[in-house]
Amino acid sequence: MAIVDYTATELLERMDSRDLTSRDITAAYLAQIETHHGEVNALVRWDAEGAMRTAEAIDSRRELGEPVGLLAGVPVVVKDNLCTSRHVTSCASRMLANYCSPYDATVIERLKAADAVILGKGNMDEFAMGASTETSAFGPTHNPWKLGHIPGGSSGGSAAAVAASMAPVSLGSDTGGSIRQPSAHCGVVGLKPTYGRVSRYGLIAFGSSLDCIGPMGRTAEDVARVMSVLAGNDPKDATSIAGPVPRYEMSCREPLDGVRLGVIDEQFGEGLDDEVASKVEMAIREFEGLGATVTNISLPHIRYAIAAYYIIAPSEASSNLARFDGAHYGYRAEDIPLDEQDGPLVAMYRKTRREGFGEEVKRRIMLGTYSLSAGYYDAYYLRALKIRRLIAQDFADAYKNVDFLIGPVTPTPAFEIGEKMEDPLAMYLGDSYTVGANLAGLPALSLPCGHTAEGLPVAVQLQGPALSEEGLLQLACAFQQESDWHLMRPELTKAE
Ligand code: GLN
Repeated sequence: MAIVDYTATELLERMDSRDLTSRDITAAYLAQIETHHGEVNALVRWDAEGAMRTAEAIDSRRELGEPVGLLAGVPVVVKDNLCTSRHVTSCASRMLANYCSPYDATVIERLKAADAVILGKGNMDEFAMGASTETSAFGPTHNPWKLGHIPGGSSGGSAAAVAASMAPVSLGSDTGGSIRQPSAHCGVVGLKPTYGRVSRYGLIAFGSSLDCIGPMGRTAEDVARVMSVLAGNDPKDATSIAGPVPRYEMSCREPLDGVRLGVIDEQFGEGLDDEVASKVEMAIREFEGLGATVTNISLPHIRYAIAAYYIIAPSEASSNLARFDGAHYGYRAEDIPLDEQDGPLVAMYRKTRREGFGEEVKRRIMLGTYSLSAGYYDAYYLRALKIRRLIAQDFADAYKNVDFLIGPVTPTPAFEIGEKMEDPLAMYLGDSYTVGANLAGLPALSLPCGHTAEGLPVAVQLQGPALSEEGLLQLACAFQQESDWHLMRPELTKAE
């Protein structure tokens, strides 16, 4: 087996037994990136020298018998909306194309403290707005399973990097599905944690009441290990949850005893592709075989989730993105025209924002500004908040009767690049099954469960009550012990 085919857990075992060094491993992943970057475009930039230096330093500490962290020597790709000091953090936007954060996000600090080797930054939809990684200022990421198809989004680069063996694990962010959707389309495991379980400090904000950072990897065990590093209280994030953090990877191989799964009725109706439905149904049968009891559950208000999300997320975005004005961060337009009416400052803001933001980001700012404006606030924003409350209550009611919910992640397999770019509503409807967990602040996981006849990955979504990540990972791990979807690799064509 090639180095780049090992899981993070296997790499750690081989480094511990001195079969491999982090230097060998990091060099192998960097070579994979260099070879296949042109086809996949998963990373927006990487730092080969810095990564090799870190790997060598960790190797010597291991050699000397010094204690090392939980991810010592393991390469990681991180989404480009996570601030990393000394390197550019662009959010895949022209607006931040040259922006260097003066500090590391808390998750980056935690990865470094765990001795991970950060390879580079994952491509994404601009400012994480999208479900296809097509709105990136650096061009689209291609699905490693079928290069003409989207990898999902917005963390498409992070998911494609794992699928294309450019990193064993990666970090994404999920505001309405952006970890789970690309994980589903690329055939990897992705966990969106409970809101507040992982610090958002240093994540460039999109919808602050929805944003979550989480891990992606080939196996639930790898995802669990990274989650143990990321999770925990952070005084720099006021919404961060206090309390102890489990060692997720220690418990994820425990057997499932009488776990009760609820199949979400509303997610098996209109709009769901037949092939996706049949793979998800097979996964449900498989869980039954593993000892789970399965019942049907209704979430009566979930059909309003998309409408509520596409008011709340853009409203928060319109406020969060106000800071990108040419004066504070990043891009500033040149040759400002004289504006007799508004003056030169407003003219500078206007030109900077017109040139710095892409179409979709502008659309969100307009939507959000509209729904927050006087006269519309009650009709849109306030009403969306009320629906959000009802949806959270639906989940709470469901979890009185079942332990976890199960259903699809996406209505269809990955579509072709370009297919939905002119139809934002069709793109938004792709989020139908994922936004509920964000509105309710609850954890959810995407687990590979099959391939379509065309060879595109399909995934099943597992959702749970607040702080049930341990249980979700245990379910996913049990499934992966009985299936081998996660062992399959796409064939990348352009080998040297
Ligand atoms: N597709 C959703 C959106 O465009 C979710 C994005 C995300 O989770 N960052 O808003």
